[in-house]
Amino acid sequence: MSTTTTTTTTTHADAVRHDVINPATEQVVTTIDLVGVEETDAAVARAVEVGPAWRAVSPADRAMLLRRFADAVEAATDDLAALEVTNSGHTIGNARWEVGNVVNVLRYYSAAPERLFGRQIPVAGGLDVTFKEPLGVVSVIVPWNFPMPISGWGLAPALAAGNTVVLKPAELTPLTAIRLGELALDAGIPDGVFTVLPGKGSVVGERFVTHPDVRKVCFTGSTPVGQGIMRKAADQLKRVTLELGGKSANIVFADADLDAAAASAPMSFLDNAGQDCCARTRILVQRSVFDAFMERFEQAMSQVVVGDPGDEATHMGPLISAGQRETVRGFVEGAADAGDAPVDVAFRGAAPEGAGWWYPPTVVLPRSTQDRVWREEVFGPVVSVMAFDDEADAIAKANDTAYGLSGSIWTGDVGRAIRVARGVEAGNLSVNSHSSVRYSTPFGGFKASGIGRELGPDALDAFTEVKNVFINTEA
Ligand code: NDP
Repeated sequence: MSTTTTTTTTTHADAVRHDVINPATEQVVTTIDLVGVEETDAAVARAVEVGPAWRAVSPADRAMLLRRFADAVEAATDDLAALEVTNSGHTIGNARWEVGNVVNVLRYYSAAPERLFGRQIPVAGGLDVTFKEPLGVVSVIVPWNFPMPISGWGLAPALAAGNTVVLKPAELTPLTAIRLGELALDAGIPDGVFTVLPGKGSVVGERFVTHPDVRKVCFTGSTPVGQGIMRKAADQLKRVTLELGGKSANIVFADADLDAAAASAPMSFLDNAGQDCCARTRILVQRSVFDAFMERFEQAMSQVVVGDPGDEATHMGPLISAGQRETVRGFVEGAADAGDAPVDVAFRGAAPEGAGWWYPPTVVLPRSTQDRVWREEVFGPVVSVMAFDDEADAIAKANDTAYGLSGSIWTGDVGRAIRVARGVEAGNLSVNSHSSVRYSTPFGGFKASGIGRELGPDALDAFTEVKNVFINTEA
């Protein structure tokens, strides 16, 4: 494992040594150099310099290079997955899926350069055509919860549309992104077209926002940081895509297949130890089946295996950091600074003791919809359960949140499924399942969950400007 990206030097005075920690063992995995403003500016300058040549690569050749990049990532599946288990504590099954997601996203958008269609619009006196032009240098700021997929969702459509890309992984989880940067070079993506810059958000991330040559910030992370980026981006009218927090509802109606709803509920909020913006952390159960659901849910929770993320049998690994575990604990046991009392725990699972940032899967019963655990994003293995009376009450409770990212609806009535799906203010809803992310369908949030959409057929619009050209045919 190289300790820096292959496309940045680390000899400047502002480089800082940084230990990368395994969250399952608290051991140092490796030490890397974090880049500073000087290296960031150099990488952006290089991205500007190589931009015209990248844009001039023929559509078929750009497509081929993206397919080669996908092939290189696929060939490195075992290495990348192992790296994510070690750096992020992801289960090995999830880590393999995450590599596959990068491969799929690269292949999906490899079809784009040859299909970046404009339009021909009927006008008097000539020919009117539109072009989808690249923005220039696009920056991608990646959080620690899904280092590989979120890198891919930004870099693949951006490169396909003819942009050059600078990408900042989270300080806690830089290793797979650094490896993706190396694989891009191996696959023949020219030097400077895609550069990975491991560094602090307050340094490299901030510089992406303030640098006049960076034309777009594609950010995934917390809502307050996203809001700050949007405010600062306004100074230059810089484009932003923001994928932020969530507090998604899992609505279980009395007419649902209760066994299926209860069996699937644990992993709908425990996947990635709950560090998932789409986690269904508010379960709403129709009052008439509340007890029947809880009995089945407790049984399903008892099957969840928490432990060594490298073990194929494990369902849930550790949290990413000691700080994240304290934040999660505060939601359940009460946090002095937030002024809240402990919440009622219905039942909880087991977690390893000793080294590692473990927290047991926990089901709580909030006393009111004003409880912090019901309102705020926990980003850990904690779910709140509450009863509702009827369809209108379910929709009202689901929408009683600042967020609007995902959600699930369990019912045997197709009409109700459609009514409730239309009524819930969220970008990604799933009926009788907990699906959120498919590379071929749009993903993004309503309200405080963000602005813009990633993935699917329309993501290229977020990385291009429409240019209209009129050609006088009567001159
Ligand atoms: P942040 O929003 O701070 O981090 C996300 C990314 O933004 C990281 O790469 C970070 O860099 C970078 N960043 C931080 N500050 C700035 C800045 N001023 N300008 C530009 N980039 C910046 O999330 P946290 O890691 O602090 O997590 C806190 C909470 O946020 C979680 O508990 C969770 O609730 C939520 N969250 C939501 C995510 C989602 O998927 N929607 C993902 C991650 C967190 P670095 O880490 O290197 O400092």
